[in-house]
Amino acid sequence: MIIAVDGPAAAGKGTIARALAAHFGYHFLDTGSLYRMVGLAVLRAGHDPHDRGSAIAAAAGLDPSNFTDGDLRNEAVGAAASIVAVIPEVRAALLDFQRGFARRLPGAVLDGRDIGTVVCPDADVKLFVTASADVRARRRQKELDADDFETVLQEIRERDLRDSQRAAAPLTAAADAVILDTSEMDVEEATAAAIAAVTAKRVF
Ligand code: C5P
Repeated sequence: MIIAVDGPAAAGKGTIARALAAHFGYHFLDTGSLYRMVGLAVLRAGHDPHDRGSAIAAAAGLDPSNFTDGDLRNEAVGAAASIVAVIPEVRAALLDFQRGFARRLPGAVLDGRDIGTVVCPDADVKLFVTASADVRARRRQKELDADDFETVLQEIRERDLRDSQRAAAPLTAAADAVILDTSEMDVEEATAAAIAAVTAKRVF
């Protein structure tokens, strides 16, 4: 059983995917962390995330079992992740691990940008979780405890643009995805809607 949860930054897909995994007793993988780990490794090496060679080397040397770095959630690391994620060789280096994870029994929930379209096009259930850019920026501002809303909004818009306009595995809803717009929902409502959508689609 594979559940794909895709969507733009700060739409609530991580929270929803985690809740689905807990509810159905499945494994959970936040695939954004893989790209963040590559971005962080490049920054730590003192390189520019646009430096293809450095990003490809970091992706090739990644240990995907170690996700514990406290800096992974920083906005600078998120931005670096979306820059290295444009590089096809970086994406290719992370593919086998994601597909292997998706096959774990009794099931797996993966969240990201291209799970339903590229990583697991045959996923049993696909959700595309979205929300308006304003709502997502408010949520991200709260999460980061940031002062300036406009700066956070600008960062969200830049990331949306980079993620949806890249040539390799761009952010887009799979044709067979259930669209979940969480703009007007709190966490409980969004989680309940996701569980209902999966239950409706799931073959027992
Ligand atoms: O989801 P998160 O914000 O942690 O992802 C960081 C970045 O990693 C995204 O902006 C996106 O560019 C990239 N990413 C991706 N494909 C995925 C997951 C994340 O390109 N499946």
